[in-house]
Amino acid sequence: MQRSPPDEPQKENPDSWSDEIGVQGIEALPKRLDRLGKAKNQAIDVGQYIAALPSDQGLAKRAKRLLSCGDYLVFRHYFTVNQVKLHGASLCMQHLLCPLCAIRRGAKALKRYVDRWEVIQAEKPALKPFLVTLTVKDGPDLLERFEHLRKAQAELWMRKHRGRGSVLDGVAGAVWSYEVKRGKNSGSWHPHLHMIALAENQPDQTALSDEWHSITGDSFIVDVRPIDQADPVSGFIEVFKYAVKFSDQPPADTLHAFLTLRGKRLLASAGLFRGVVVPDDLMDDPEGLQDLPFVTLFYRFIRGGYALKSPR
Ligand SMILES: [Zn+2]
Repeated sequence: MQRSPPDEPQKENPDSWSDEIGVQGIEALPKRLDRLGKAKNQAIDVGQYIAALPSDQGLAKRAKRLLSCGDYLVFRHYFTVNQVKLHGASLCMQHLLCPLCAIRRGAKALKRYVDRWEVIQAEKPALKPFLVTLTVKDGPDLLERFEHLRKAQAELWMRKHRGRGSVLDGVAGAVWSYEVKRGKNSGSWHPHLHMIALAENQPDQTALSDEWHSITGDSFIVDVRPIDQADPVSGFIEVFKYAVKFSDQPPADTLHAFLTLRGKRLLASAGLFRGVVVPDDLMDDPEGLQDLPFVTLFYRFIRGGYALKSPR
């Protein structure tokens, strides 16, 4: 029986935006601008698709905001310590429609949860992080499949709370997020969730698969693997990457996913991870650099990429 998910979570390239967080010198800026420029181009594709729709559906304003999202980016280079921080940008804040805002929001959430993990780790050194993936069978109706997954996850968590024995009994904290895409072969919608579960011992994958099947009635594909403690970001990023894969799907699917999932909670936490606040502000945190001298770098999006205007 195939019990691993077909997309092998940790092997897949999560668009390598993990370096959106952490210490970045000026030498890393060209690569970062390239990544943000690609996301901006994808945002334009979605915006143009929506703007061209025959019936407006109240989306014209959203398209306009998408098209101008990230027209400029302002970085501060704190040259005495060689650190570059995103200081300003005109962002549309529509992270389910906009790849650029999705990257920034994912990076902010990733940073907050990695920071929390470091605190937890110091207090409870016996706990280890595991990446748990839960999937439901593909289906043509995205809302129906998404709700199926959401309710099954809630039931799994309830079993743990009722104390009658669950594979997740040893889990002291968890954060999870929902992701939707089309199944590779079926073309149908394939919602799944990635969870970071903190436990002393690795939850048993086969037992979890059985428990998941008994809850869902139609789905048994789950995956459990340890997260490398020397490099937690590479495992955590699976949970904080985008809810949709903008680069793999046509704008029509992006819009459909947005219309289906907007207003729904796509990131949730429990236990030791409860209460982590992800800020609305999508700029970098200057983290103690405020008193240092800096050079402002102003980039404008021109002809498909970011170009430096003039250092001031
Ligand atoms: Zn945006």
